[in-house]
Amino acid sequence: MTLPRPNLNQLEMRGDFIRRHIGPNPEQIRAMLAELGLTDLEQIIAKALPADILNAEPLKLTETISENAVIKHLRKIRERNKVFTSLIGMGYYDTIMPAVIKRNVLENPGWYTAYTPYQPEVSQGRLEALLNFQQMIVDLTGMEIANASLLDEATAAAEAVAMARRLSHNPVQAVFVDRDCHPQTIAVVQTRARSLGYQVIVGDPYRGLDRHDFFAVLVQYPGSQGEIHDLGEIVEIAHKKSALAVAAADLLSLVLLKPPGAFGVDIVVGSAQRFGVPMGYGGPHAAFFATQDEYKRSMPGRLIGVSKDSHGHTALRMALQTREQHIRRDKATSNICTSQVLLAVIAGFYAVYHGADGLRMIAGRVHRYAQILAAGLALMGYEVVSRRYFDTLVVRVPNRAKRIAAQAMEASINLRVIDPDHIGISLDETTTRKTLRALWQVFATPAAEFPDINRLHESVDECIPDALLRSDPFLQHPVFARYHSETEMMRYMRRLARRDIALDRSMIPLGSCTMKLNAATEMQALSYHEFSGLHPFAPLYQTLGYQQMFAELEDMLCDLTGFDAFSLQPNAGSQGEYTGLLVIRKFHQVNGQHQRTICLIPASAHGTNPASAVLAGLKVVVVACDDNGNVSLDDLKAKLAEYHDTVAALMITYPSTHGVFEEAFRTICELVHQHGGQVYLDGANFNALVGLSRPGKIGADVAHLNLHKTFSIPHGGGGPGVGPIGVGAHLAPYLPDHPVVKNVNPNKGPHGTIGTVAAAPWGSASIYTISWAYIAMMGAAGLKKATLTAILNANYIAKRLAPHYPILYTGKNGWVAHECIIDCRAFKHACGITVEDIAKRLIDFGFHAPTVSFPVPETLMIEPTESEDKEEIDRFCNALIAIRQEIAEIENGNADPENNVLRHAPHTHKLLLEEWTLPYSRQQAFFPGDDQEDDKYWPPVGRIDNVYGDRHVICTCPPLEDYQ
Ligand SMILES: *Cc1c(COP(=O)(O)O)cnc(C)c1O
Repeated sequence: MTLPRPNLNQLEMRGDFIRRHIGPNPEQIRAMLAELGLTDLEQIIAKALPADILNAEPLKLTETISENAVIKHLRKIRERNKVFTSLIGMGYYDTIMPAVIKRNVLENPGWYTAYTPYQPEVSQGRLEALLNFQQMIVDLTGMEIANASLLDEATAAAEAVAMARRLSHNPVQAVFVDRDCHPQTIAVVQTRARSLGYQVIVGDPYRGLDRHDFFAVLVQYPGSQGEIHDLGEIVEIAHKKSALAVAAADLLSLVLLKPPGAFGVDIVVGSAQRFGVPMGYGGPHAAFFATQDEYKRSMPGRLIGVSKDSHGHTALRMALQTREQHIRRDKATSNICTSQVLLAVIAGFYAVYHGADGLRMIAGRVHRYAQILAAGLALMGYEVVSRRYFDTLVVRVPNRAKRIAAQAMEASINLRVIDPDHIGISLDETTTRKTLRALWQVFATPAAEFPDINRLHESVDECIPDALLRSDPFLQHPVFARYHSETEMMRYMRRLARRDIALDRSMIPLGSCTMKLNAATEMQALSYHEFSGLHPFAPLYQTLGYQQMFAELEDMLCDLTGFDAFSLQPNAGSQGEYTGLLVIRKFHQVNGQHQRTICLIPASAHGTNPASAVLAGLKVVVVACDDNGNVSLDDLKAKLAEYHDTVAALMITYPSTHGVFEEAFRTICELVHQHGGQVYLDGANFNALVGLSRPGKIGADVAHLNLHKTFSIPHGGGGPGVGPIGVGAHLAPYLPDHPVVKNVNPNKGPHGTIGTVAAAPWGSASIYTISWAYIAMMGAAGLKKATLTAILNANYIAKRLAPHYPILYTGKNGWVAHECIIDCRAFKHACGITVEDIAKRLIDFGFHAPTVSFPVPETLMIEPTESEDKEEIDRFCNALIAIRQEIAEIENGNADPENNVLRHAPHTHKLLLEEWTLPYSRQQAFFPGDDQEDDKYWPPVGRIDNVYGDRHVICTCPPLEDYQ
């Protein structure tokens, strides 16, 4: 007997990942195709997509490599990164992520695959974790209210300045910025100010601030070079001018220092990175934003609030959700959508695990080491310029700064070269006696004696005066005292995680958000020390692995999109939009077309589109959609004629948020170009195009890609994300650069760039490894198959649901794209059942609801992605069909319009403890679906009262009495 001869490619498992990523097996694919009257996946192309958008030439990235080979390759790349002890500071510090948090949160799909908590009943775990984060920020900053994170410190500062401009009664169009702010913060504020038309005065706020006029003053506390100032006078001067005082603060220093709130500062921003989140060569990290209660309704970002559920029990939710962008649109004041939930959760847990005393010990140690270092340097004959500092020193080294920094690098230490005469040194949680000795070695001169650490520890005096030290207690809530043993911490994190529905439990069919598999292999590299341990401003020769990975990823993305260059700096889709529009504006200005300030946006657009246009200084003009959900060509022509030579851009989502490939995409782009405008493509729906169509070749000039949608970066419960933008060659010179790391945009030309849009040169660098691995393992064949399967899955769902729910929009041949919208408007008229009732009833079946009421009110937008197999999709369809029958019972009078199974959904275990009085069985309430007997999801709270929560906005942990 002879064995069949296997194919060598199969032996190497090449391409094996494709079947791991794509949910349906060949048999299921055949069955679904048969439902739709097809026999082959490829036939979908002709059925669903317009012929004129298809790729003319095949992708270049043809290779597909195995999971094992990807890991090997990434290990090789990581060897090109050199992890030095980075004492550069400037907003990034080494830190120790407690292993219990790394294993149970960062590397736990229960946390990282969750979605933004729009459905609070299935998100109580991460909502509690975020409330802890908010409480920690409130305590440390001394403010009254804090949000649940922003993208990074620099954009948070820009948001704070913009908010101050809205709130200040001083009409002057200028902001005063402390010259000792981190340079990237100043750069991002300047970029924002240019588009919104106000002046940025950079100077020393502690000298003659009175002589300037401004609507806000922004200071760094402690300064970027370490000095701690009394902020009292700054606040007084600002308030006298009806201006707001904004402080960008270092979180760890606030453990010891008088908090900005105690000086009367109005807004405090900063980064929570050094609370256990690795530097990751720039990100992702959570920024924070805190202010006074009176300003809460003007705050950007998401706010977690306390409300009540249908049983009157305390329950958490996102507060003031009506402020979200899809409602504010062109009245929006901020475009933040995806933020940094996972990182805020980690930073919050870091505080929970250490508690106030633990943090005091960490901060105290860092500070003590800094003082010993300074004393030692002084003994060695150096002038330490810093007088009052927490962890950062400036040392005077006339004409020797570069040389000393080079000597430090010989010892694998990075220092900050401030100018030819000054070196900056920032210590951190990982600093030890060994670090101090190594530093002294670097500074050693033959004559000087080597200092003795113990002796210095005994003799140095506190350098911070009492008036600047914190005297009030913080982190007093029980949550910060209960979980200091690893056992209790592990159980607390598990308890929270099991309250939530994430992708590790069931499909999350969120239209427009593409909740696909985040494969374990893709997640590995970001945990490697050689990727996570790098400072974003480390010299490039130490980061060659990253540079290689970026270059390869940019090539892959250019190949997939047909663009000529990419910028990896924007750290969310919204930031990509803003950046892309700035690039377009700059292009027009360079061409002498300063008058082009109109941004055309179809009515169906995502709310971030108009919000980003406003931030980019453009005026939004809405283009109508026709009855089929397509951009109305008549209205577009009319608007183009009306605004003609003032049109800067059309922002269009393709396929549209209505879930169909419109036929006229190319025509639309041609029309806009005829009028001299540029086409911005919102690439959130790129999962429907990958491998089939290249936007850059069919009319788009710029597009952002949400790699946290299409390219497998997990949503993290509402972030991190990244929103890199691709552009045609004519726009490449204007892509962002960076004030600290040069040559971030190699195409930069004589007209300069748009400036800087994020704190780190390559944004949230470490998670780009995820998308790199995804593309490498899928290859051209896998990516195309994924796209076709995503379209197949969506059309299969549309086919199964169509007899029960109207499908709102379809395209050619009655096909949808990669998502479909089911229309629930009629139920409200017929029997009072709303789309919210349906969403909450899905929880009883163990499902997270699809996208609710976007882009059309009272509809559900369903996107299964390619990762869900037929069985799971059928389970989901069966649930929706069963719910439809429950609605029919109300319509035909068999069930009460108020007292029914939909209205009371979701049903919690607490109902089991009461006498059963509901007009339906417990079986129907709790176990309505398939296969629930063995694995029932029990929602921890009943339906949450949104109105109550918005009337009584409470965004901190419940008062102490509630725990007794
Ligand atoms: C998700 C999304 C955005 C915003 O992207 P973020 O990464 O959340 O900022 C923009 N447009 C559409 C259509 C989206 O689905």
